[in-house]
Amino acid sequence: MVVRLTDTWTEILRRRASNSNTGAYAEPVRDMLGEMVAAAALMQSNIKFDGSLTLQIFGDGPVKLAVVEVQPDLALRATATVIGSVEPTTTLSQMVNVANAGRCAITLDPNSKFPGQQPYQGVVPLFDDQGHKLEKLSAVLEHYMLQSEQLDTTLVLAANDQVAAGLLIQRLPMAGSGNLAGSMVSKENEDQIGLNEHYNRIAILAGTLQRDELLTLDVDTILRRLFWEEQITRFEPLVGDTAPHFACTCSRERVGKMIVGLGQEEAQGILAERADIEVACEFCGAQYRFDAVDAAQLFTAAVLRVPGGTEPH
Ligand SMILES: [Zn+2]
Repeated sequence: MVVRLTDTWTEILRRRASNSNTGAYAEPVRDMLGEMVAAAALMQSNIKFDGSLTLQIFGDGPVKLAVVEVQPDLALRATATVIGSVEPTTTLSQMVNVANAGRCAITLDPNSKFPGQQPYQGVVPLFDDQGHKLEKLSAVLEHYMLQSEQLDTTLVLAANDQVAAGLLIQRLPMAGSGNLAGSMVSKENEDQIGLNEHYNRIAILAGTLQRDELLTLDVDTILRRLFWEEQITRFEPLVGDTAPHFACTCSRERVGKMIVGLGQEEAQGILAERADIEVACEFCGAQYRFDAVDAAQLFTAAVLRVPGGTEPH
C-alpha cells in the first residue's frame, strides 16, 4: 500500500504556519509529523477500522506530543506540541526520546460502542529489544504491528515541506482468498513470522526504496523500480472524497464541553481578567470565544444535564 499526500499535507503545514502562537514547525518536527500522517493514513486504510485511529508520540524531549487522527473516510488532522527549540540537525530520539522515556501509542476508538466500552490502545517504546534508541519512526511502528497484529510489516516513510509519503508491505496471514474469510489460523500464522520467503523477498526489495524516491516518484514508477521482476496487480487509487483529506472535528459545542470540564470557578477566574475565554484549536487554528453570557449559558445547561437534575420540558 502506498500513500502520497500533497494538498492534505501542505494544508496542515499552512494552518500551523499561520498560527501566531506557534509559528511553523521546525524541519525535523515537520518531517516526523509528516511521516506520522502518512503512516496513520496507511494503517487506517489497511485495517479499515470503523472508528478513529489515533497515532500519538508522547515525547520526553522538546516535542511533548505529536498526534495524528484519521477517520474511517480518511479525513485526518495532525498537530505537535513543541516546548523549546529544535535545531535542523535534531534526530528523532533528541526530539522525543532523550531519556528512553518516550512512547508511541495507537488508539482505536470505535464509532459504535457498548456502554462502558473503552477505546483499544497499544503502546510501544521508542527503543529496540536491546534498549537502543530507534531513530526511525518506521521501526517503531513495525514493532507495534508485529506485536499487535502478529504480522510481519515493512514501512518506508518520508516527508518534507511538500509531500508526506509512505509504503507499507504486510504479509497476509493466509494465501490468496483465504484472507477474505477472516478465519486466520493463528498457530500457522505465528510459525511464518520472519520466515515466509515471499514476504522476505518483497520486504527486502521494499527496504531499498530511498527517501528521495518515495518523495519524488509517482506510484507506478516506484512499483516498477522496486518490483520489476514481480507480477504486479495494481488496485485503483483512491481519489476525491475517498482519498485522505484534511478535516478538523472541532466545534463550538465541543469547546463548550471542555470549558464546563474546567469548572465554573476556573471559567469565572478567566473572565474576571478578560472579556472572553478564548480557545484556539491546535489542529486547524479555529478560534472560539465565550464571553460571560456564553459561559453562564454553558454552566446552566450543564446543570440541567446532570443525572437527577431537572430536565427542561
Ligand atoms: Zn479544529
